[in-house]
Amino acid sequence: MTSTGQEPSLFSRIAAREIPATIVAETDRIIAFEDIAPQAPVHVVITTRTQQYRNVVELAAGDPGLLAELVAVAAGIAAERSNGQFRLVFNTGQAAGQTVFHVHAHLLAQPGPGSPAG
Ligand code: 5GP
Repeated sequence: MTSTGQEPSLFSRIAAREIPATIVAETDRIIAFEDIAPQAPVHVVITTRTQQYRNVVELAAGDPGLLAELVAVAAGIAAERSNGQFRLVFNTGQAAGQTVFHVHAHLLAQPGPGSPAG
């Protein structure tokens, strides 16, 4: 259980190293890892270490600085791994395809020449 009484989300368990994942970037408050079912040659999930925000709207309202940090981490990964052009997608709500209710972005891109996926 978390301090708010919730069961740990899948992404909290990845951040805690309880579930293995290929982690590509970390800060004190953000963690990024390769999606298990990639929808593009570069597909990285960028999320918060803690799960108090269910989606990007809640995060923007509750901690805009953390949202900015998440986007900055995504931009850094894109600079390293992509061809410089990318999609940053926040599925928001079940009908929009959200399956994990712990805020996260999908970075989707084609690999760049120096990318691990390239
Ligand atoms: P959502 O559909 O909520 O926007 O995104 C959830 C994402 O988590 C999906 O793209 C899905 O492939 C990914 N995912 C689900 N389970 C795992 C897992 O165990 N490990 C990793 N690395 N990604 C996962």
